Amino acid sequence: MEPASDSNLSFPLRGTEKVSQLVLFPISVEQKKVEEIKEVRPPLWKEVLEREWNDWRWQLRHRITSLEQMKEIIELTPEEIEGIKHSKGRLALAVTPYFASLMDPINPNCPIRRQAIPRIEEIHLSKNEMVDPLGEDKHSPVPGLVHRYPDRVLLLITDQCAVYCRYCTRRRLVGSHERSITQGNFEEVLKYLKNHRKVRDVLLSGGDPLLLENERLEEILGRLRALPHIELLRIGTRVPVTLPQRITGGLVRMLKKYHPLMISIHFTHPKEITETVRRACSELADGGFPLGSQTVLLKGINDKPYIMKKLVQELLKIRVRPYYIYQCDLATGTEHFRTSVATGIQIIEKLRGHTTGYAVPTYVVDAPGGGGKIPLQPDYLVTRGKGKIVLRNYEGKVFEYPEPNIIEFKKARPVGEEKVATKKVMA
Ligand code: SF4
Repeated sequence: MEPASDSNLSFPLRGTEKVSQLVLFPISVEQKKVEEIKEVRPPLWKEVLEREWNDWRWQLRHRITSLEQMKEIIELTPEEIEGIKHSKGRLALAVTPYFASLMDPINPNCPIRRQAIPRIEEIHLSKNEMVDPLGEDKHSPVPGLVHRYPDRVLLLITDQCAVYCRYCTRRRLVGSHERSITQGNFEEVLKYLKNHRKVRDVLLSGGDPLLLENERLEEILGRLRALPHIELLRIGTRVPVTLPQRITGGLVRMLKKYHPLMISIHFTHPKEITETVRRACSELADGGFPLGSQTVLLKGINDKPYIMKKLVQELLKIRVRPYYIYQCDLATGTEHFRTSVATGIQIIEKLRGHTTGYAVPTYVVDAPGGGGKIPLQPDYLVTRGKGKIVLRNYEGKVFEYPEPNIIEFKKARPVGEEKVATKKVMA
């Protein structure tokens, strides 16, 4: 490869160094370990039968929803106590016994605990925050349906979740009534979809669609699948993480009838990947559902490259493809979870090239107000010159890449025609 100094490139090269040897800046990756955790049942549930513990309905019925219950299993800090008191009338508190069993009862910075237990910071509002940060309500033609992109819609079929994440973007909706879409609203949704034949993809979300009973979920999937222009169904869920007992053989058998069906699972931290979660994801993967993960970037929880690296590598091991890292949205009461955008870009910098390409998700900012997802990544294009570009790789080394030459050539028309067509082709 020629030295870049011979070219028309504006990139400043030093001495006679070849571009392939030049290192802009060395990229190092922190080498820290994330300890695995196991479910440790707090004394409160020591006597619970295995059969009950593994029953998702039992888990849902026994969710922790009050300060008194939480005090029985966790040594709460004053900030958490105040946060729980103020969560009434805001985003509800609810934690499954299973998810609570992953919490460190002593350390308030435990990533599982920080996601699920409110803190007083939730009542501190920032001027940038919004009730509906993604502008979903203004893109909702009928209740429960969000139509923001031309060929796909978001269908909110319940406002219930197994655990309420303290950073939830839809905190204006979830947990308020814990009920699913009414039949009347669903009929309206179907009517709308029948009249909008460009829609080919329906993402079921909420709340968490997998909290519906199989029969109700099947009715919804079946009626959507019956619309000839709906090619793809997707489910967005956090249940495999917070209530993995819900992933039963019966659920998988039912869902399999509605392929192609993709499942996006909301993972946040490598400590969420327990034996129980591995089993749940294995059932889903064996059912043939392409599994992707979506992760919200959260300050003090997963905003370190070594944590994200561990998460994405563990996800591949359980056959879940890391799909998105989301910049935290501007939902009210979530400022304390937000990182800078530079933090997200730096995480991608420390993943791309440093681990399997399949493990590198796309980092996106969901544009405030409803502009959709905007992907961001480190700038690998150093400069663009005439006929050549300079790129840098994951180690910070730079390389020249020659652009193709564009030539004109004349293509003869069929015999009898005098004119010739000019066409641009790539040499
Ligand atoms: S599971 Fe999703 S919808 Fe439910 S609280 Fe968490 S982020 Fe919000």
